[in-house]
Amino acid sequence: MRILILGGTREARELAHIASGERGFEIVSSLAGRVRTPLLPEGAVRIGGFGGAEGLRDWVVANGIDAVVDATHPFAAAISANAAAAVRDSGVPLVCLRRPSWSRQMGDRWVRVPDLAAAAQAVTTLGERVFLTIGRQGVRAFAGLGGQWFLIRAIDPPEGPLPPNHEMLLARGPFTVEGESRLIAQHRIDVLVSKDSGGDQTDAKLIAARAAGIPVVVIDRPEFPECAVLVETVAQAWDWLRAAAVAASGERRE
Ligand code: NAP
Repeated sequence: MRILILGGTREARELAHIASGERGFEIVSSLAGRVRTPLLPEGAVRIGGFGGAEGLRDWVVANGIDAVVDATHPFAAAISANAAAAVRDSGVPLVCLRRPSWSRQMGDRWVRVPDLAAAAQAVTTLGERVFLTIGRQGVRAFAGLGGQWFLIRAIDPPEGPLPPNHEMLLARGPFTVEGESRLIAQHRIDVLVSKDSGGDQTDAKLIAARAAGIPVVVIDRPEFPECAVLVETVAQAWDWLRAAAVAASGERRE
């Protein structure tokens, strides 16, 4: 089976690692090309956009792809919508691997907001020293806030306007609770901003914020398109791919 993994996440790399070692599977991972030095998955990798849903559909057909795994980040809404539309047109099966949302724990002081603009609005009433951990994209939504100081953390420098008072911290996770607590204390952070990315690689900051007793502005995930096969873990995605391979080999024998 030829599998296209739409990636850019740890889960996508894990799945590529598992499937690349298996007989009967040929894996191509796809990355958007946003990060200067991406963590590359095992096996074949292509980098760059496909040119919308149609471009993705054409690529899938031209490359004889038997199944697509959408293992992109929960905030990568455009590529997920493209994947859903592309498979609808081509009839190729799609499995969506989506890590569960974070849920509030005892002691959390979360303010849930629907989007970046609402997060910027919420920050103005919650604190003065803000730890902005939303990645590179979206920082511009905070550019108009002159009354706050920001510690901005991203893998690569954000493009576009930035808030006037800030310090940039270029770093790639995973981070530890100890490290996050140190940053919060060192910079006298009084509010954290995070996307509801989910997963266990980026939750150290939430634990550190809970321990420090500071509020967290949690940005809700965007709407996802319908996905017939929705799984939450790499193991479930892999089970599905193996079952699809067995079904496909049965069909070939008949
Ligand atoms: P997006 O808004 O959903 O996608 C914008 C465009 O980028 C898509 O229309 C597509 O271009 C291209 N693209 C996105 N992911 C791609 C992939 N895996 N392979 C090929 N092309 C892709 O995406 P985004 O939010 O900018 O995220 C880009 C990538 O970074 C994703 O792969 C995602 O998994 C990863 N990532 C995102 C976040 C986040 O917070 N958004 C966090 C961590 C990792 P065409 O229409 O030309 O095909």
